[in-house]
Amino acid sequence: MARKMGVYAVLAFVLYGLFFYWYLFQFADPKLPFEYEGTNADPATFLNGRELSLSEEYSKIRNLLFFLSTPLEWLIYFLILLFGLSKAFKRWAEDSVKHKLLHTPIYLFWLSLFAFIAVLPLSYISYSLSKTYHISTQSFPSWMKDELIDFWLNYATWLIIVPVLYWLMRKSQKRWWLYLWILSVPFTLFMMFIQPVIIDPLYNDFYPLKNKALETKILTLADKAHIPAEHVFEVNMSEETNAMNAYVSGIGSNARIVLWDTTLNKLSDEQILFIMAHEMGHYVEKHIYWGIAGYLLLSLFGLYLTYRLMNWAVARFGKELKISDTKDIRSLPLFYMIISMLLFASSPLSNFVSRYQETRADTYAIEMTKNPDAAITSFQELTRNGLSQVNPPMLVKIFRYTHPPMLDRISKLEEYEVKHRTE
Ligand SMILES: [Zn+2]
Repeated sequence: MARKMGVYAVLAFVLYGLFFYWYLFQFADPKLPFEYEGTNADPATFLNGRELSLSEEYSKIRNLLFFLSTPLEWLIYFLILLFGLSKAFKRWAEDSVKHKLLHTPIYLFWLSLFAFIAVLPLSYISYSLSKTYHISTQSFPSWMKDELIDFWLNYATWLIIVPVLYWLMRKSQKRWWLYLWILSVPFTLFMMFIQPVIIDPLYNDFYPLKNKALETKILTLADKAHIPAEHVFEVNMSEETNAMNAYVSGIGSNARIVLWDTTLNKLSDEQILFIMAHEMGHYVEKHIYWGIAGYLLLSLFGLYLTYRLMNWAVARFGKELKISDTKDIRSLPLFYMIISMLLFASSPLSNFVSRYQETRADTYAIEMTKNPDAAITSFQELTRNGLSQVNPPMLVKIFRYTHPPMLDRISKLEEYEVKHRTE
């Protein structure tokens, strides 16, 4: 039975992959709606032929990798259970040391290592793809170093969560999801608080803006938005990537607006000021706090569903999955799998909310800078630079786009320009 279920799961994954291959490469039509042709949002007006075809090609492959990677994770966890690997990891942990307290860390290490190695090829393909298209300039050792930091950071995080999770499961079979959620609130806030000062610097160097003339302009803008100067940072990314980015991270006194040095190197001062004003919009409107509130609400519901689904799966397929009891650590891959499925299923909603916030930040930025020309050209530059699709297929937008497609963002700015020209 277990073997049969494994074959079905692999088959389902292959069919799913073929569907998305067909959807992205055959079905989706990259042509713009008629009314956008020839406008500032039409990539044909600001990309050359080569850039146009590269961006179509690159986006299609990226999108396919995106849709394959998450279900691949589910498949891996499912197969780990079916083929008794979870059981084996537990036995190895128990055989290697006598001390009971060390069993969970060792089990978790084997499980994390196996999952890490299983998804590594796909991560590598993704990395080498962005290198082929000159988005990433990161050397292999540097990429591998980031992967290893990811691995250990993940391991450390789960090493805190997992013992608590199974302790709660043993304490209360019916309410563990609620208690776990209650404990997750301060934990999440703490992680958000230390993110910009402890976690992010593990990967890159952060410092105050180097270009002092530009810094003065940015701080004048920040002052207008009532943001203290110590919250604006530059990060050294140009050794790794050609892509541009800026973001807001952290909460409380650690909240920061961060600009990649690539953005600073490639855009004019006016364009940078628009991008900065956009990030300030997020900061001023407290989007991070809304994000945390939404996340906590969703995770309460998600943990309850996880509890129900885990019980159901163990009752129905416990024999095949080799889990006799939910509160046995052998059920951890099932927990991971369900969490990952629920996150994927809820991503259309969280992306929708995020796109709404991005639209608000764009509006804030244009009202503040009142320079639609700089705004439009900065978005065009971002599109060229990231070889991104201005008008992605529907499913890509729903599952992948935390920002509105450039088609919408640029045409909004055009509307602003037209409106204020006639006033
Ligand atoms: Zn934004």
